[in-house]
Amino acid sequence: MKKYWIITFGCQMNRSDSERIAAVLEDSGYQPSVNLPEADLILVNACSVRQSAIDRIHGLTPKFKELKAKNHKLKTVLTGCVLKKDKKKISEKFDLILDINDLPELPNFLQASDYKPKNKNYLKIQPKYSTDFTAFIPIMTGCNNFCTFCVVPYTRGHETSRKTQEILCEVENLAKRGYKEIWLLGQNVNSYKFGEINFPKLLKEVNNVKGNFWIRFTSSHPKDFSEELIDVMASCKKVTEYLNLPVQSGDNGILKKMNRPYTTKRYKKIIRKIRERIPNITLSTDAIVGFPGETERQFQNTAELFKEIKFDMAYIAQYSPRAGTKAANLKDNISHQEKERRWKVLSDILKKTALEKNKQWLGKAVEVLASEQKNDFLIGKTREFKTTKFKGSENLVGNFVKIKVAVTLPWGLKGEII
Ligand code: SF4
Repeated sequence: MKKYWIITFGCQMNRSDSERIAAVLEDSGYQPSVNLPEADLILVNACSVRQSAIDRIHGLTPKFKELKAKNHKLKTVLTGCVLKKDKKKISEKFDLILDINDLPELPNFLQASDYKPKNKNYLKIQPKYSTDFTAFIPIMTGCNNFCTFCVVPYTRGHETSRKTQEILCEVENLAKRGYKEIWLLGQNVNSYKFGEINFPKLLKEVNNVKGNFWIRFTSSHPKDFSEELIDVMASCKKVTEYLNLPVQSGDNGILKKMNRPYTTKRYKKIIRKIRERIPNITLSTDAIVGFPGETERQFQNTAELFKEIKFDMAYIAQYSPRAGTKAANLKDNISHQEKERRWKVLSDILKKTALEKNKQWLGKAVEVLASEQKNDFLIGKTREFKTTKFKGSENLVGNFVKIKVAVTLPWGLKGEII
């Protein structure tokens, strides 16, 4: 039997796509390979939002050449969020560059003679979930926002929402199978719209599905974050107390240059309202330092916003130009050292605020979904998305466990089973 190996990098959406790719391959007779050299098919599912991802793809190709010299039948495929012009440059290094929307056609390329694509919509493919307790469900794909630093609108195209009924069927099936955590995914989930159903209404419907599971969602955009959504988050018991709301910059001038149509005032107002309605919410954000032309004053505005909001977690990126975006035409005038310094300033603020926030959990009981075992310890996340470590046996993986928090650290909690 032929074996496949999938290399995935990028966001949860890409992870979710890889689950669909695995399902298509297994449907057409492939088996997962236990190691790379044994594979007959290597599929790279890449997210090229950052230039570093493109460099990573280039970095992989010498290894493929080496493997092909040993196994002449080896096929290599590249898919994911890759720009057309990147594809052209990379195409000779892969046997196939596959548009993710053409995933149902993959077996035809691989010459599985009896395979007939069941439908043309790749999101309709029943995925091969990588765990039996957490599932990622794409609810929409694409983006209409055109942030100047991002290639997603060019690689994934315009926003398309999945049928509500299709999403609910997937959730119902997973709930029946005992799944504990459902992630609703999209480049911009808040702009989900199918007929009369917007994102808050969809969230309500998913919450009404019978079963004992948590609901999480990502990614959100402040411009679409409505009061209706805050109300639904506060009133739906299955929706967890965790929100990632990317601010990207704490300076209005930079937000404008990024084509992010909100102000820091509006962002803070959303945060205030969420905290009023859901006081124990964990808040994380995304920020970019060293965007073209970012002055020290503008950077300090981001630092001030970090101090004021006191995030629990943040994904801080040092700006790097991504070919094909509008920002790539601007002069990348902040030195590497300066970006590094700004990154460190924000990271230091975050470390303090994260520890301060985590201290509130000391001595409290939390519910954790145990997701992996490392040595004698189990690791999982609380409803509030706090990484928690505790002693326990492997059979608890995939289950909710009550833990009393004994130690608080900036990036997580430690405790004991109650
Ligand atoms: S909202 Fe902006 S950053 Fe997010 S996917 Fe769309 S263009 Fe990219």
